[in-house]
Amino acid sequence: MASLREGNRKRVIDALRERGIASRAELARVTGLSRSTVSTIVSDLLDSGLAGERDGEPGGEAHAGRPPVMVSLNPSAGLAVGIDFGHRHLRVAVSDLSHTVLAETWRELNVDHSADHGLTAAAEFVDQVLEEAGADRARVLGVGMGLPAPIDRTTGAVRAASILPGWVGVDAAAEAEARLGLPVEVENDANLGALAELAWGAAKGRSEVAYIKVSTGIGAGLISGGRLQQGVGGTAGEIGHAVISDGGPVCRCGNRGCLETLASTRSIADLLSVSRAEEVSGRRVLELCAAGDAAAQRLVGDAGRAIGVAVANLCNLLNPQCVIVGGDLGAAGETLLEPLRDTVRRNAIPSAVEDLEIVAGVLGERAELLGALALVMHESDRFATPELLSEAA
Ligand SMILES: [Zn+2]
Repeated sequence: MASLREGNRKRVIDALRERGIASRAELARVTGLSRSTVSTIVSDLLDSGLAGERDGEPGGEAHAGRPPVMVSLNPSAGLAVGIDFGHRHLRVAVSDLSHTVLAETWRELNVDHSADHGLTAAAEFVDQVLEEAGADRARVLGVGMGLPAPIDRTTGAVRAASILPGWVGVDAAAEAEARLGLPVEVENDANLGALAELAWGAAKGRSEVAYIKVSTGIGAGLISGGRLQQGVGGTAGEIGHAVISDGGPVCRCGNRGCLETLASTRSIADLLSVSRAEEVSGRRVLELCAAGDAAAQRLVGDAGRAIGVAVANLCNLLNPQCVIVGGDLGAAGETLLEPLRDTVRRNAIPSAVEDLEIVAGVLGERAELLGALALVMHESDRFATPELLSEAA
């Protein structure tokens, strides 16, 4: 009986951890437990100080009359740390399990940084945000860490030499654990973007989601049944290497005509650099596009069409509720999204995209950092929660 009770309690805690805040009725619905079981567990959590109550917030589930009382986990129930390594930056944050970010910091970091240099900087930042938040290190349940490269699920090592040369062969999670003295899970940037939009952004409340990150590279984070889909080796979602144009430009993966060679910010910037006879950066692409430059808008539109072909195939396979376009090029808005939507509707089977929404991500450059925090909240099976469970006794 004790293990059944403990299992039910873990289900309620996991549901709160994923949602941040929820009513008792919502908890009963998502856990499949009876309302009375949920009420008993929530009372225990309130009595032990692990959870607190707040008034219902607009935007929650629709109810007639008075908004329901909402429940969320307190900082004493645990904290999450997120680390995001980009090609040019490092961001670190700490949050509680009600999804409130308590402290956050960032700095520029060279794309060619070595793993050793990066991890040392990250460890210093973790100390800094914990101190700033007045947070007890012993309450940190885990650390989510994002790297802009495919991660081998079995070894935890970075797989692609051309993407992150300073990290190749490094067991990033083990190295970070040794420095931080905390459990660390590593994920690639597109998967974290997907989790972030699910927890905080445009995919909130959804369970079937495809997140497309369009930056220097292109990748997808796939959510099915509310869970991240990684594939057997961690390579699921490499949509950037879907072949769109047989015989097209040579890709860094060795193939030709991959989506990434046609629609990444780098490929657009390279084409504009030639036509303008000046060095054009990814940021400049967006500026030119917003300023109405015809060539920039044309190229971003072409990128939208190319991405649309790949997304249409993805929709035929996965039939998601929504496709969220993030990364640098997501900021191009309708110039990118309109041709993307048109192409998806033309190429996918109608029933796969009938109710599909295709929208821009809303979290911008913080998406991966928030996703690293969301990894700790959503993927509870990947992090032990001994303190939460021991207090059940
Ligand atoms: Zn490729």
